[in-house]
Amino acid sequence: MIPITKPFLPKQEEYEAFLKGIWQRQWLTNMGPLANELEMKLKNHLKLKHLLFVTNGTIALQMAIKALNLKGEIITTPFSFVASTSSIVWEGCEPVFVDIDNESLNIDATKIEAAITKHTTAILATHVYGNPCDVLAIEKIAKKHNLKVIYDGAHAFGVEIYGKSIFEYGDISTCSLHATKLYHSTEGGLVVTKDPDLLKKMAYIRNFGFVGPETFAELGINGKNSEFHAAMGLANLEHIQTIHQKRKELTDSYDEHLNHFKAFKPKWHSEASINYAYYPIVLESEAFLLKCMEDLKSKEIYSRRYFYPSLSMALPYVKNESLDITDDISKRVLCLPLYVDLSKEEIAMICSVLLSSQNH
Ligand SMILES: *Cc1c(COP(=O)(O)O)cnc(C)c1O
Repeated sequence: MIPITKPFLPKQEEYEAFLKGIWQRQWLTNMGPLANELEMKLKNHLKLKHLLFVTNGTIALQMAIKALNLKGEIITTPFSFVASTSSIVWEGCEPVFVDIDNESLNIDATKIEAAITKHTTAILATHVYGNPCDVLAIEKIAKKHNLKVIYDGAHAFGVEIYGKSIFEYGDISTCSLHATKLYHSTEGGLVVTKDPDLLKKMAYIRNFGFVGPETFAELGINGKNSEFHAAMGLANLEHIQTIHQKRKELTDSYDEHLNHFKAFKPKWHSEASINYAYYPIVLESEAFLLKCMEDLKSKEIYSRRYFYPSLSMALPYVKNESLDITDDISKRVLCLPLYVDLSKEEIAMICSVLLSSQNH
């Protein structure tokens, strides 16, 4: 059986090495020493000044919207994981969908201005598959219309653009460190900002709004993460180069085998590094996609329609709305298995199934 993904795991001893200290200190959560160490090491690794380690990528988005005190309408992409839209609704705001670009599959920056109304307060865009949005165009629009920008960087760990971390863009960027993501802490998330005041505010929000044991600064929530999760994050960070290298090799291998396969890959931002988080392909038609999925499944190979359906069509709590490019692409996009334990032989097998689907 070949699953769509497998979480990366360090050697059990590497994780266990952290447990001894946890038992000695008996400090299990609430910004403990391992959580602090992880924040420091991630700041170093990503070359960032400020970040916070939080419960998960969804809480990270909700904290970002709360910290920026957003109200009214937030312009967003329908081609993302549900959390980018649900967080907007959860925070009492209204998502306004803008169609995606048919090459990058990110929000089409040239269509954003037409969606701005007097109720618009922000743009929340996803770096889909880790591929950066047109951050410069979005920054320009946001400045002109006085809007805040949040980037859902759940897929974008480690990506650099114009020589710096992609998380430096926007007022706040978020990341997910969920087990299925490229780099993970079992469950976990990050909020990143360049603004120290905003960081402080989010630090209060993360801890129920406490400033002192008996005093409150903010409306807060429990956005903390535990020492056990931090331990997994620290253990996995030691392997980040290997993870990156292995995923690159696997991606290259897919590219080679699928050279003559009728599908296209999303066009990556020309100024950005690649983190090989996913292997998405856009097929010629939905019918062909379904055939490929079936043929793969008959060999116990599991692919995933990611993202499908379009968020603008699927959610019972937002008004359904058809958007040409998103509707079309979401019906034809398929992610193939990609994880560190995958072998090149398995990739050869996956690709031979796909190529034979094409020829029959
Ligand atoms: C995974 C993901 C999230 C949510 O992150 P969690 O850590 O699972 O809460 C948000 N947005 C996108 C695009 C994701 O892929």
